[in-house]
Amino acid sequence: VLLASLLGCGDGAQNGVFPSGSVEERKTRALLDRMTLEEKIGQMNQYIAPIYAQSLDSPDLAGKVDTLLAQGLVGSFLFVTDAGEANALQEKAARARLGIPLIFGIDAVHGLAPVRGATIFPTPIGMAATFDVDLVERSGEVTAHEMRVTGMHWAFSPVLDLARDPRWGRTAETFGEDPFVVASLGSALVRGLQGPDQAHLRVLACLKHFLGPGLPLGGRNMGPIDVSERALRTTFLPPFQAGVDAGALSVMAAYNDVNGVPSHVSEELLTNVLRREWGFRGFVVSDWEGIEMLHTTHHVAESQKDAIRQAVLAGVDMHMHGEGFSKPLVELVREGAVGAWRIDEAAGRILRVKRALGLFEHRYVDAARAASVLASPGHRKVALEAARKSIVLLRNEQDLLPLRKNLKKILVTGPNADNTALLGDWTAPQPAENVITVLEGIRAAVSPATVVHFVDPGRVFEETNETIQRTAEEARDADVAIVVLGENETRYDDRGALDRRRRERTGGEGADRADLTLVGRQMDLVRAIVETGTPTVVVLVNGRPLAIPWIAANVPAVLEAFEPGLVGGQAVAEVLFGDVSPSGRLPISIPRSVGQLPVHYDHPRSAESPYVDESFEPLYGFGHGLSFTRFVYADLRVPERTRRGEDVLISVVVRNAGARAADEVVLLFVRDVVASVTRPVRALRGFQRVHLAPGERRVVQFRIPFASLAVLDRQRERVVEPGTFEVSIGGLRGSWIALRK
Ligand code: BGC
Repeated sequence: VLLASLLGCGDGAQNGVFPSGSVEERKTRALLDRMTLEEKIGQMNQYIAPIYAQSLDSPDLAGKVDTLLAQGLVGSFLFVTDAGEANALQEKAARARLGIPLIFGIDAVHGLAPVRGATIFPTPIGMAATFDVDLVERSGEVTAHEMRVTGMHWAFSPVLDLARDPRWGRTAETFGEDPFVVASLGSALVRGLQGPDQAHLRVLACLKHFLGPGLPLGGRNMGPIDVSERALRTTFLPPFQAGVDAGALSVMAAYNDVNGVPSHVSEELLTNVLRREWGFRGFVVSDWEGIEMLHTTHHVAESQKDAIRQAVLAGVDMHMHGEGFSKPLVELVREGAVGAWRIDEAAGRILRVKRALGLFEHRYVDAARAASVLASPGHRKVALEAARKSIVLLRNEQDLLPLRKNLKKILVTGPNADNTALLGDWTAPQPAENVITVLEGIRAAVSPATVVHFVDPGRVFEETNETIQRTAEEARDADVAIVVLGENETRYDDRGALDRRRRERTGGEGADRADLTLVGRQMDLVRAIVETGTPTVVVLVNGRPLAIPWIAANVPAVLEAFEPGLVGGQAVAEVLFGDVSPSGRLPISIPRSVGQLPVHYDHPRSAESPYVDESFEPLYGFGHGLSFTRFVYADLRVPERTRRGEDVLISVVVRNAGARAADEVVLLFVRDVVASVTRPVRALRGFQRVHLAPGERRVVQFRIPFASLAVLDRQRERVVEPGTFEVSIGGLRGSWIALRK
C-alpha cells in the first residue's frame, strides 16, 4: 500500500471522502482490515435486483443472490424499484458476517421515473431547454427525496454526454449539444442530488458516460469516437470536470472507445484525468456488461478474465452487473496480476461513499412513507414549472398562438395526443391518474362550451394506416386542428415488463435512426390536415431533433414540447391557450436533413460552406425559441480592456415591450477573434432566465471568468491569448481587448 501510494496509485487518506484521522476514515480502515479478499471484491459487485431480473426474463437469480448476500459477497443492486424489496435485500445483507449495507442504483435520469408513482420531469433535453440552473438543481433535490424514501441511494445521473449526432437514440437523455450548458446544468443536478456536503450525501450522483458516446460513428449506439486531443480537452471533458468540481462521487465508464481505447480500459481517462488531474474522490462503475464487451465486442481482451484485469487496473472500481466477476478477480489477485492494494482501494472508495450516505446508521426505510412523498403536490409543482419552461415555440405565423379558449370546435389528433410518450425513456408505467396527456391538458384548458373532438388516428407510427384521410376530414369543420406528433421511447409493456423491441419505440437507448423525419405516416397525416385549410398547430413530443422542413414551411404554428413529463400535457395546453408564454430555447440544433450532420452551432468558420442541394443553415439553430411577447435588448456594456486574471463584467438591458408577462432566456456568446488555433464562430459563455412584467426592464449582468477564455494553443498549453474578444447578446454586439496595453 505504501509503495502504491508513493507511486500515486493508492487512495491516500487525504484522497478519500473523509479527512484522514476522522472517525469516519478510521472506521472505514478498521472495517477494511477485518474483510477477506472475497468480501472486498464482493463490494465491487453489483447485481440486478431480483424483481427487475424477472422482467428481463433472466433465469431466476433470487436463489443465487440470497446465497451471495448471506456470504457478504454483494455490494450493490441496480433497479430495486420499491421500498419493500429494498428493505428485504438490506435485511439479508445485514445477516452476513460483517453486515455491510447495500447501495442501490437506479436510472433516475429525469426524476425517479423507473418507479411507479414517482414524479417525472421532462427528459434532460427538455430540462436543458429551460436554461434554468436553479430549477435543474431543485429537480435533483426532489428526485433525491423520492429516492431516499423508497430506499434508493444512487442515481445514474447526470448524463453529461454532448449530443453531437441526433441519430443517436439517447439524445433525449442529454442536456444537448453545448459544453457550457451541459457543464452548468450537469453540475446543478449533481448539487441537487447530492446536496452541499460530500460527507452527508442526500443520494449519490453518477457522471456518465465517461467518455464521448454522444458522437458515435454514424450515430450508432456504443460506436467509437475519434476526436483530437484538443476537442477532448476543450469540448468533451469540461462538463465532466465541472461535475467532479460540483462534488460528484461516482462516474460511469462509457461503452465506446475513444481514439481506439475503450473507456473501460482507459487508464488515461479513468485514473490520470479523473483522479490525478481533477482530484476525483469517489468510485468508478462499469456500464452494464461494459467489461464483458472488452472481450466480446472491442476485442482488446483475450478472455473475460483478461477484460476484468485490464478494467480494474485502469480504474474501474465496481462491476455492473452479474456473475462472473468475483471468481476471476480473486484469481488475478492470487496470481499477482492485480495488486491487493488495488482491491483495498476500490472497496475503500465504495465503503466511504456508503458511509457518506449514512447507510451504516440507517439502512431501512419506512415503506409507508414513500406513498406520501412520491409525486406529492409540491413535487408535481416543480415538474410543472419545468415542463412550462421547457416548451419551445418554433414557429408562430400571424400569431396563430395563443388560441382563444372559447373556440367552438377543436380537432385534436396525432399519435402522441393521448399516450405516455411524453414521459420519455427510463420510465415505468404510471398510474393513469398521475399523468396529464396533451389531450387531457387541452380538455381542462378550454371553455365548457368548446367541443374538443379527439380522433385517434390509429397506428401512424407504422406504415399501414387507412384512417388518415378520415381523420383529416374531421378537421374541416373545426376552428383549429392540433396535431400531436413525434416519437415514442417507452420501453415497458403495460404489465411493466422491459420490452426493448417495442415496435413504436423510435428513440431511447438502442433506438438509433438513419433518418430524422417523422416515422411512419405522420407526415401524410399532417399534410392531409393542412390541405383542408383549417388552421393547424403541430405539437412535437419527442426526444431528439426531427428534420421536418415541410412542417416548418407549411404549418403556421409549431411547438417543440420535447418529452415534458408527468404533467407535461397541462403545460402544453397552458402554452397553446396563452396562460403561459413559451420561454424555452433549443439546447440543440434541429437540422434540415440527415445529410447536414454533424450540425452544431459552435463550429469554426471554415465549416460554413453550403451544399449544392442544401443550405448550410440548420432548420432551427441552437438557442432558437419564440415568445408571445416582444423583448427588446439595449445598452450592452462591455469593458474596453481586461487584464490577466480579471473576470469580464458584461451587462445588457432587457425590456418586455409586449403586453404579457413572460420569461426570457438571455444568452451570451463570445468569439475569440484571432487565435493561434481555429475557434468557434461563437461559444456560449453565459445564460440567465429573467421574468419581466409588461413594460418592465431589467439590467442583466454576467461575469465571464478569465480562465473560460482560454484556448489550447499549438503547444497544447491552456492560455488566454491577447487580443480582441467579441460578445453578442440578443442581436447586440460589443468587444473588448484582453491582455494588451
Ligand atoms: C446504460 C446506462 C445505464 C445502465 C443501467 C446501460 O445500458 O448505458 O446509462 O445506467 O444501463 O441501467
